[in-house]
Amino acid sequence: MLNEGNYGRICEALNSHPSPNERIAELLQKSIELKGLTFLEAGELLNTNDSGLQEEIINAAGRVKELIYGKRVVLFAPLYLSNECANNCLYCGFRKDNVSLARRTLSSEELIAEAQKIESMGHKRILLVCGEKPVQNGISYVVKAIRGIYEKTNIRRVNVNIAPLSTEDFRHLKEAGIGTYQSFQETYHREQYSFYHPCGTKADYNWRITSFERAIEAGIDDYGMGVLFGLYDYRFEVMALVCHAAELERNWGVGPHTVSVPRLKKAFGSAVFETGFQINDRQLMLTTAVLRLALPYTGIIMSTREPGFLRDRLLDIGVSQISAGSSTAPGGYSAGERGGTQFQLEDNRTLDEVVRDICRAGYLPSFCTACYRQERTGERFMALAKVGEIKKLCQPNALLTFREFLLDFASEETGLQGKRVLKRFLESSDVAAVRESLVKRLADIETGKRDIYY
Ligand code: SAM
Ligand code: SF4
Repeated sequence: MLNEGNYGRICEALNSHPSPNERIAELLQKSIELKGLTFLEAGELLNTNDSGLQEEIINAAGRVKELIYGKRVVLFAPLYLSNECANNCLYCGFRKDNVSLARRTLSSEELIAEAQKIESMGHKRILLVCGEKPVQNGISYVVKAIRGIYEKTNIRRVNVNIAPLSTEDFRHLKEAGIGTYQSFQETYHREQYSFYHPCGTKADYNWRITSFERAIEAGIDDYGMGVLFGLYDYRFEVMALVCHAAELERNWGVGPHTVSVPRLKKAFGSAVFETGFQINDRQLMLTTAVLRLALPYTGIIMSTREPGFLRDRLLDIGVSQISAGSSTAPGGYSAGERGGTQFQLEDNRTLDEVVRDICRAGYLPSFCTACYRQERTGERFMALAKVGEIKKLCQPNALLTFREFLLDFASEETGLQGKRVLKRFLESSDVAAVRESLVKRLADIETGKRDIYY
């Protein structure tokens, strides 16, 4: 929950003059030392109009990302369980007043079929997503979905993006083995929030902004925040999100595991698109960079809402996890549809193509789920990230899971490209400490062993 004093300070900061160049240089130095930034400092960086300094901000973010995470890029796919919704968020194609949308909630068999389709591409992580109707009907539907996917597929981590729950319902998700619980505040600005969310449970700003407190209380210490950029001034949103993250860390001892940076897209049947607050590509790059500098240890997620060229560029700036080969329609994978119904997707490459492009850009694709399964979540994860240790696990685990992908799922072209990438990263200093055992484990994978991790 943002305290009132901080909320006021954020509003004031929007009207302040840009800070002098020396001050920006000082903040960049602080962030390169991985000290993070306060919400007001993040606002100062976003307030600078100097294009040279903006370039420095972007470059600094790339350095910070590499220091913490190395070159690995984690991949996942969303699985839409239902497009039935009791809310009426003006920007969303699933809103209840959109009578032109064919509504569908997947049965247990259908959702397993979807998960198997995702698995057959090579994914190991799924993000479950749904409208508010099935959640209102009881959390058992989502709980069964999580359990069913773990039981009937080789998917190794199920994350969830659904409406905020009570502490008791969060406990049920925890027991079912949820990975990260994600919820986006959409906009932190109270009046704008009321405008975009006119009715239903989502109209309650306070219920939404306190969701992570209930999730943590229920034992879910991997939580993912986000803002829907385009609903209000992006500088306000970044400051508010950084402030919210700091308050959660201070009060509950654990900061966000991830931050998502979705941008408002045209949705078929939505009620608004021209909000006057849409952000352009340059502003999205700066937003991502400042979030990376402010929250150096937090994963940043970019979805297929954005076009391939921009997603590739954002990897250099701070993004560490991306979805690929996605459908946003319930049943979309089984029906062979891409480009779904919730909003327009702009990256329609297959997972194989995305993997190949990640390799070409000099990064290492990762299907790792080790931290979650080794119970390196919440503070345990952050403690490793803060001393620069996490990449010593990320990189070897990325190499192991990428080898599996190349053997089991990759096209010939991706296989050739991938082998070169594996060789290069195997020689890198990041894996020096475990190289011998890593070579042995990679050989085990060649002989058919799977699911090996550090
Ligand atoms: N129904 C749940 C909720 O609203 O929290 C979770 C699922 S909702 C499908 C996931 C996210 O999609 C929302 O939090 C919102 O940020 C995003 N979204 C909705 N409409 C969008 C649009 N037109 N463009 C981009 N993202 C959108
Ligand atoms: Fe429903 Fe979520 Fe879409 Fe709002 S954003 S209409 S709650 S699915």
